[in-house]
Parts: sequence; C-alpha cells; structure tokens
Amino acid sequence: QAKENGRATYHFFNETMSHRASEHLALRNGLRRALDAGEFELHYQPQVELASGRVIGAEALLRWNAPGEGLIMPGRFIPVAEESGLIVPIGEWVLMEACRQARAWQQAGLAEVCVAVNLSAVQFRRGNVEQSVLRALEATGLPPHALELELTESLMIQNVEQVLATVRRLKLLGVKLSIDDFGTGYSSLSYLKRFDVDKLKIDQSFVRDLASDPDDAAIVRAIVQMARSLNLKTIAEGVETEDMRHMLRVFQCDEAQGYLFARPLPADEFARFLSAQQAR
Ligand code: C2E
Ligand code: MG
Ligand code: MG
Ligand code: MG
Repeated sequence: QAKENGRATYHFFNETMSHRASEHLALRNGLRRALDAGEFELHYQPQVELASGRVIGAEALLRWNAPGEGLIMPGRFIPVAEESGLIVPIGEWVLMEACRQARAWQQAGLAEVCVAVNLSAVQFRRGNVEQSVLRALEATGLPPHALELELTESLMIQNVEQVLATVRRLKLLGVKLSIDDFGTGYSSLSYLKRFDVDKLKIDQSFVRDLASDPDDAAIVRAIVQMARSLNLKTIAEGVETEDMRHMLRVFQCDEAQGYLFARPLPADEFARFLSAQQAR
C-alpha cells in the first residue's frame, strides 16, 4: 500500500513538473511575440491625497491581452519575463507607454497626475534603466517630476554600490522614486539613509487588517511616523474600506490607493474618472 502511494505521488509529481515546464515554455514564447504584436496594455489605478481627496497620481499596471486567453495578470507572467530577460524590452515599453499616456492626459487638459511605473530588479541588473527613462521622457515630452519609479527593497540590497549609483543618476534626472511593498523585504532600514527616495508605499499586507488588528495598526503608524521624520511621503496600498481610510488619515498617512477609490482602469476609463472628480 505504502509503495503504491509512493509511486502514485512520484508519478503525480512528475506530471506536475512537466506540465509546469511546458506552461513556462509556452508563456515565454508567447511573451516574446506579445511585444511585437502589441498585446500588452497598461491599466491605471488612482492614487488619492487623503487630506484633500484629490487624485494626484496613477500607478501603471501591466496586463497582457493574449488572443483567446483574455487579460493575463502580471503575477502570472512577470516572473517568466524576469527569468528570461524579456522584462528588459517589456519594461522599456512600459516606461514609454506610461510617459506617452501621462503626457497625452496633460495635453488634453486633465488635472496633472504623476504616473508611477514599477521597475524590476532584473531591469537594473541587465538593462540600462537610466537610458530607458531618459529616452521615454525625451520622446514623450513628459516633465521628469511627473514620473515616479517604484523600486523594491530586494533591489536595494543586491549590488548596492551599482544600484546606488544608478538611483543617484535617476534622481538627478528629476524623476521621483518610491519603495514598493515597503516592510515586506529585508528590513535593514539603513538603505533609507543611503537611497534618496521620496516615498514609501506601505504594503497591503499591513493595510488589510488595519482596522481589526492592533499590531498592523501599530506597524502602519510607526512607518508613517518614521517616514515623516525622514521627510518621506507615505502611501498605503490596498485600501478597500472607509475604516481603513479613516485610520490612515488619523495616522497622517499622505496618500492611499485601493479598490475603495478605484480598481486599476483602462486608460480611457481612468481619464473619465479623473475628469468626473475634477468636475466635483
Ligand atoms: P504592486 O506594484 O504592489 O501593485 C499593486 C497590486 O495590488 C496590483 O496588482 C493592484 O491591482 C493590486 N491592488 C490595488 N488595489 C488593491 C486593493 O484594494 N486590494 C487588493 N487586494 N489588491 C489591490 P496587479 O496589477 O496584479 O500587479 C501585481 C504586481 O505585478 C505589482 O504589484 C507589481 O509588482 C507587478 N507589476 C505590475 N505591472 C508591472 C510592470 O509594468 N513592471 C514590473 N516589473 N512589474 C509589474
Ligand atoms: Mg507597484
Ligand atoms: Mg506594491
Ligand atoms: Mg504589492
């Protein structure tokens, strides 16, 4: 009996492995074609200033509109794009497209919003991020202060000197920098001193139970206080309820982003959302 079970488990394991491997291969081949075929799109999620309620930013979030598959979310394909290095050309497209869109909204007379773009550690390691950013700004005419780059904590602990030099040059261009998913990575806070970032994005895992879990509330309050004394802005991710919004205001968190305000929206819907709130 035990032997049977063992064999069954082994068999299952192998099938799962090969299924994963072939899915991985299919994804990688699909991704390679997707860029040329124009199958990527960006959705934009509003970022709201808590004191005024105004939308002051938009995070650009990548989706893959694969024929016959519908919208594929980044969690499914970004890891494959990173492993294969395809994240470099894909990331360049994201930068260019986000800057183009933000500039188009400016020229259409919409309220000015800062567009935030996620950068992968692989783009820092394998690509030339600084040149990609510069090219996107120059090609689109977007002022640098209207672009924010979201970095992760894990990025800041690998190849510290090289990343530090790149981050310094990015700051010199005039773009803004934020740390995404703050609090989930390696919590050596010393990098906050060394890296001249503008904003901390408090990870949604601390925000989720903010209203019911005193520990999470304490963590969020501590992050906001620390950020304020370092002259950094804070934004809370994953804000879904009025209670969360209320507590974040009490804690003096600067901004919030989450389903309470809006889901990530296709560009035209975001523009409608923005002009509707301008009219109010
Ligand atoms: P992230 O940068 O932390 O983005 C926030 C994620 O939380 C997004 O998931 C967003 O849709 C989701 N979210 C927003 N508000 C709420 C809320 O109220 N509740 C909940 N439960 N979730 C909320 P999404 O779009 O699936 O993106 C997942 C991750 O994929 C992103 O996490 C980011 O790390 C990565 N990603 C997305 N676009 C890009 C890109 O262009 N380049 C790179 N390198 N990574 C990207
Ligand atoms: Mg992000
Ligand atoms: Mg995040
Ligand atoms: Mg996150």
